[in-house]
Amino acid sequence: MEKSEKIWMDGKLVPWNKANIHVMTHTLHYGLGVFEGIRCYNSMENGPSIFRLQEHVDRLFQSAVILGIDVPFSNKEIHDAIIQVVLENKLEECYIRPIVFLGDNKMGLNPKGVDVRCAIAAWPWGTYLGEDGLNKGIRVRVSSFTRHHVNISMTKAKACGYYINSILAKAEAYRDGYDEAVLLDPSGYVSEGSGENIFIYSKGKLHTPTLSSSNLDGITRDAVIQICKELDIGIEERNITRDELYIAEEVFLSGTAAEITPVREIDSRIIGKGMKGPITDKIQQTFFKIARGNKSKFSKWLTPI
Ligand code: PMP
Repeated sequence: MEKSEKIWMDGKLVPWNKANIHVMTHTLHYGLGVFEGIRCYNSMENGPSIFRLQEHVDRLFQSAVILGIDVPFSNKEIHDAIIQVVLENKLEECYIRPIVFLGDNKMGLNPKGVDVRCAIAAWPWGTYLGEDGLNKGIRVRVSSFTRHHVNISMTKAKACGYYINSILAKAEAYRDGYDEAVLLDPSGYVSEGSGENIFIYSKGKLHTPTLSSSNLDGITRDAVIQICKELDIGIEERNITRDELYIAEEVFLSGTAAEITPVREIDSRIIGKGMKGPITDKIQQTFFKIARGNKSKFSKWLTPI
């Protein structure tokens, strides 16, 4: 991990190596905390620009509402602090990680009275699933782990503890020689990747699981849906079964870290021609054009810093 200079902690910038917490931090023990993953791209005309910043800040606050966490800063304060972190670290392209967590003044499962704390880090982070993955596609396995039931974990929150499920799935996929895992929801329908939403292309249009499939309401997922409208590609949100993945013409994953990553193989079945498909390529190219400021119609998605 390439460190940057400063991290914003509870309202102040502190050196990276001093941004520490106590071992009795509540979130470390019980996992109740919320976070975001955001990317800043170097856009052609305006320099470093944060992709869909307001949507990410809004989701952070929504995650906190879902889990009953009272964030001690306003939406605007967090929004502005994120810009400040990128600026102060003189970063051009980076990944940004705001986290809201419970402090170390009280133990026990009742979170009432525990201090709520916030930190924002930003550092250079290249492609999540590899440059080769972006160009040629990755190999995926359907996980033996099921995604959260919606009334066990409220999956519209991006919550720290929920990622145990993602980590188990990802580690299993890696152990078995795959690059990523796709999880099914408790009804057996396709839900999402360990940290990405999923799309398939078949019978002349794109399909993606509805937001009732135990998945996160991905901001890149929404970008893909809007890009499809722009490119005149049909898109349907519906229940998708595991076997539909195997016979799809194209499959890709979407996420802030993974961006638009084609899938070339699932559970030893070759998808389409075993490479990035033409529809995925079109959507990926448009996505990067927008992120790097080359499509003025979508410039509202970029916040120049
Ligand atoms: N699902 C999960 C479980 C994730 O962690 C992520 C990454 N935030 C996504 C989907 C994709 O969401 P986004 O496009 O907002 O990054």
